[in-house]
Amino acid sequence: MGQTAVRDVMLGRRPAAESLLRGHPWVWAEAIGKSHGMGQGQAAPGEEVQVLAPDGTPLGRGLADPGSPIAVRMWTRRRDPIDGALWRSRVAHALELRAALFDGTRTDAVRLIHGEGDRMPGFVVDRYASVTVLRTDGDGAAARIADFVQALWPRLARMGVRSLVHRSGKKGEPPRLDRLEGAEPPETVRVEEHGVPFVVDLARGQKTGAFLDQRDNRRRVGELASARRVLNLFSYAGGFSIHAALGGATHVTSVDVAAAAHATAQASFQLAGVDPRAHAFVTADVQAFLEGARGRGETWDLVVSDPPSFAANERALPRALAAYRALHRGCAGVLATGGILCAASCSSHVHAEAFLSTLDDAALGGRALTVLELRGPGADHPVPAAFPEGRYLKFAVLA
Ligand code: SAH
Repeated sequence: MGQTAVRDVMLGRRPAAESLLRGHPWVWAEAIGKSHGMGQGQAAPGEEVQVLAPDGTPLGRGLADPGSPIAVRMWTRRRDPIDGALWRSRVAHALELRAALFDGTRTDAVRLIHGEGDRMPGFVVDRYASVTVLRTDGDGAAARIADFVQALWPRLARMGVRSLVHRSGKKGEPPRLDRLEGAEPPETVRVEEHGVPFVVDLARGQKTGAFLDQRDNRRRVGELASARRVLNLFSYAGGFSIHAALGGATHVTSVDVAAAAHATAQASFQLAGVDPRAHAFVTADVQAFLEGARGRGETWDLVVSDPPSFAANERALPRALAAYRALHRGCAGVLATGGILCAASCSSHVHAEAFLSTLDDAALGGRALTVLELRGPGADHPVPAAFPEGRYLKFAVLA
């Protein structure tokens, strides 16, 4: 029926096939026998392949990444090709979902496409008002940027987006921004989140410029902050801080090692009509800051902790849990009686139960707090039910 011939990749074991049938989007390299289609010099990065169960049953099609531990990312469980029609329908579905979620909410900083969660594995697109930023994960997605952009750009242009840039660059290096479509983007953009204005530093900021996944948790912190003294640890561009200040916090202290992040935060305070001089921005290591504050006997009524990922891989898990425990004990040590602790983790290797074990009575040094809420990212970060690796963000509210 007009199907193009594609390379077959056969799984070695039945459990890997069952995982794909449940909707897990990844085929691990070790699940494929060397002689079964993904050996060296065979599939090219981004090449469409058909994945077969050990008994030869087709399980669907994906894009190959032969150099990666994730050898294939699945796009469809059907036998149809991954063609322009499929790219366009996936893009349309993702954008219609965002329109339903955000139209009329005074929010123009939105994750439009969330990779695996939108069944477009390896592709992430964030919108910051009139600018959209693409990031790819893996060589397979990087090799297919042109196909993705062809499906995406006409729709973005119709939505009033003026530029699409590709952000790349290795961890720790300054980001590279390459214009893919539309106008050259500005270095910073002004956006709104639930009506609260922010400055996003596209040229220097982390990830695609901001951490959109915490949007609803920032708003929650704003609701909880009324009449409280707030400490925001790992404050970056001050997202939690502004919501806290606008929510009626009596004073907000923001702590981050990056002085440049504080400059962006102060610009956002000003945009929001809050005088940054009425609050504190401390450039310091969080542990050192907490020890100093403890020594001075200083306390806060609401403490927010949103550190970078502590576990880059499964092997780092014990060390990561120990680091969360030490951090949370430090937070408990500066929490006033009756105070609220908001503790976040963005490490995908640290599952919710393990994360909560770093907030139990023993971890907090005998201070007994209970969990009021266990939250995740906003609805613009969808995840297939069978993809626990995608549920990386935990946000616990304790009191
Ligand atoms: N809460 C932020 C995102 C935090 S990202 C938001 O809502 O947007 C993590 C931040 O932690 C980065 O800005 C980084 O500079 C900072 N950071 C990392 N290690 C740190 C440390 N040891 N002490 C203080 N800040 C640190």
